Amino acid sequence: MAERFGVVIDKKWCKGCGLCVGICPKKVLELDEQVKSEPVRIDDCIGCHQCENVCPDFAITVKESE
Ligand code: SF4
Ligand code: SF4
Repeated sequence: MAERFGVVIDKKWCKGCGLCVGICPKKVLELDEQVKSEPVRIDDCIGCHQCENVCPDFAITVKESE
């Protein structure tokens, strides 16, 4: 069974630096029209936590689900 992950962006903390967009190996994240990170391909997320770890503003939480 495929594992599923959720990526929650706290938009009030996100400053749109794009580090998470650049580091994600699966291109899950993009900057939206407000220049905030947004998970646009969440089904491709492999739960590596790199986005969470790279964010300087602790705006990202990666969650595991079934
Ligand atoms: S690394 Fe953090 S602050 Fe930078 S764009 Fe991503 S969520 Fe926003
Ligand atoms: S956990 Fe990994 S694969 Fe998922 S969005 Fe973050 S960097 Fe991308």
